[in-house]
Amino acid sequence: MRCLKCGEKAIMELSRHNSAFCQPHYVEYFENQVERAIRRHQMFDRDDRILVGVSGGKDSLSLWHVLVRLGYRAAGLHIHLGIDDYSKTSYGKALSFARERGLELIAVELAERYGMNVTQLARTVRQAPCSGCGLSKRYILNREAYERGFDVVATGHNLDDEAATLLGNVLHWQIGYLARQSPVLSSAGEKLVKKAKPLYTLTERETAAYALLHDIDYVVEECPNAPGAKSLFYKDVLARIEAVSPGTKQRFFCEFLDHARPRFRAGGDEHTLRDCAMCGQPTTAELCAFCRLWERAQRRTAKQKTRPPAVSV
Ligand code: SF4
Ligand SMILES: [Zn+2]
Ligand SMILES: [Zn+2]
Repeated sequence: MRCLKCGEKAIMELSRHNSAFCQPHYVEYFENQVERAIRRHQMFDRDDRILVGVSGGKDSLSLWHVLVRLGYRAAGLHIHLGIDDYSKTSYGKALSFARERGLELIAVELAERYGMNVTQLARTVRQAPCSGCGLSKRYILNREAYERGFDVVATGHNLDDEAATLLGNVLHWQIGYLARQSPVLSSAGEKLVKKAKPLYTLTERETAAYALLHDIDYVVEECPNAPGAKSLFYKDVLARIEAVSPGTKQRFFCEFLDHARPRFRAGGDEHTLRDCAMCGQPTTAELCAFCRLWERAQRRTAKQKTRPPAVSV
């Protein structure tokens, strides 16, 4: 297998592009893909302050690394979720990455700020951990970015993530989500910071290779709450299709963006945003989903505390 560009020994084969690259040309391919995505969707430019959501995994750390290498002004935000050893390791990886490169890392600890970690929250509101976790991460990322004056929030969602989300949205005909699923979401109001996903044309395997080539030490273990998640099942289904027909995953997502999404957007509902009565963040209801969830959790905790102790006879 030879590099498509220089004919040297290739280290990475990309069947969906019918190509292979040596180490320097693979790095060039990866960085060109990121730069092209940023320009194509006008995600941000070199004057913007970018806040990267950093979990400590390969995608978010590779994203942070590539943005800095390309000359963008990027700081990181890590949310300490309090999920057993997984969260400790993730935070450690994010912190060492930032320290070794002299980058700014903002850390928010969920339990310290809101009184409960993801596991306690899930137990209290009797919901799967991922629903409260996802909602909290999105909320905190936006709020921190807004309050600290960042222009854009960037996340490490890759092609596998986006194709799996699209499959889920199509299978359940989630019209509102289909209208909003995009590599870039412009700011819909002063307090809703622009969102960008510069890795959306690159697969998990490609970001893992990029991380490896740049000695990025990332958390390899999966979150203990991930097994059984629908998104993993959809990824597996898409990987099987891709193995038989390379390029399907990319066509599925990119052609959705070009041809289908505009139609969903045209028919989509326009929501009027107002300030949440509790936290002031934008919402369509009186209270935002984050405040509703955490208020419910706090009410349940207070109820448990005031309940009389059980008497054994
Ligand atoms: S798998 Fe679920 S609980 Fe774990 S980090 Fe992801 S969203 Fe949170
Ligand atoms: Zn080469
Ligand atoms: Zn709120």
